[in-house]
Amino acid sequence: MKDLKKGQTPKVNLNPDKSSRPSQFNVALQKPSKIKENLDKYIVGQDEAKKAISVSVYNHYKRIIYQSYQSSVEIDKSNILMIGPTGTGKTLIAKTLARFLSVPFAIADATTLTEAGYVGEDVENILVRLLHVSNYNIDAAEKGIIYIDEIDKVGRKSANASITRDVSGEGVQQALLKILEGTIANIPPKGGRKHPEQSLLPINTSNILFICGGSFSGLEDIILRRLGKGEFGFSSKKGKVQKNNLKTIFNHVRQEDLISYGLIPELVGRLPILSPLNDLVIEDMMQILTEPKNSLIKQYQRLLLLEGVVLEFTKGALKAIAKLAMRKEVGARALRSVMEEKLMGVMYELPDKKDVVGVTIEEAFILDNRKPVYRKDKNLKTA
Ligand code: ADP
Repeated sequence: MKDLKKGQTPKVNLNPDKSSRPSQFNVALQKPSKIKENLDKYIVGQDEAKKAISVSVYNHYKRIIYQSYQSSVEIDKSNILMIGPTGTGKTLIAKTLARFLSVPFAIADATTLTEAGYVGEDVENILVRLLHVSNYNIDAAEKGIIYIDEIDKVGRKSANASITRDVSGEGVQQALLKILEGTIANIPPKGGRKHPEQSLLPINTSNILFICGGSFSGLEDIILRRLGKGEFGFSSKKGKVQKNNLKTIFNHVRQEDLISYGLIPELVGRLPILSPLNDLVIEDMMQILTEPKNSLIKQYQRLLLLEGVVLEFTKGALKAIAKLAMRKEVGARALRSVMEEKLMGVMYELPDKKDVVGVTIEEAFILDNRKPVYRKDKNLKTA
């Protein structure tokens, strides 16, 4: 195998044997540190997850190159499972990765998936979507990334499988397993049901990276129960674990916990990279408001600047927004609705106030609906 030169991120032809194909698709191999650096621009916190994912994405694309060299060692694909509360950045990580690597990316919601032949969406339709965003370039689609959200919802209903075994859920898991481990799926290019008259396209899924995500509510109890059995010597301190470490309990997750939760062992086996994401704390929420490249504050500032108005927030206002959003318990997702609700009045009246050149949003405006502080330019006239 050729060595990568230090400090280089070479353009690599991942499919040298198919180089004559016009639709050939190249991916630039990026080092883990570069991938993480890019994730850091958009995703606040979640450092361990970002690191683990950067390494596995690097390995994934390296593995594809390695495949074209003769070797007796075959490297297994390492799909990723992100475990963490809703709105903590799982989808954002997957999306950001795909954009940085310039590979096709599709999102699917596991709860809408059904086994082929049932009412709902065929698992294979995920591939249709990937093919669609690849502009029907099969070579590109076959090197893409698919994010499957809410994977926890296809589990059997409880660890007590004898009573509540959810057979349809297991069917979906079996169907997912097939595309995750690598298969040639024959898909109808336009989606929908397979009709005899529709010609099918074969897609090889063995180089598609699957990233799954789920909030796995209740999994903490399973992990605690296992830890309570004396592993890591936690048994005598169980109460302490519950009180202090509940927020980071997912860091202790093991594959067996996921099986107890209701995922079939084969599927868990195909998701060897477990990446726990943590609950966001108020400081994270404030950072999310201001720091990412396209943070909400930056977006609203740009919107108002187009009106010739400089928008500013005091630290107290940012904290108040973060606090209000946290109460909704949907992670950072709530930030947008809080901002929208609070700034709606300002955005309504500003176009009529031609003399206003600046607005400062303070804590009292967010919490007590006080008037915003407008800065005016006397030389300009109100419309
Ligand atoms: P989920 O974990 O449920 O997949 P998402 O990644 O879809 O959550 O997050 C929803 C929105 O919240 C994102 O689009 C982003 O704006 C914001 N967000 C969530 N977590 C983070 C984070 N760690 N850093 C920056 N923004 C975040």
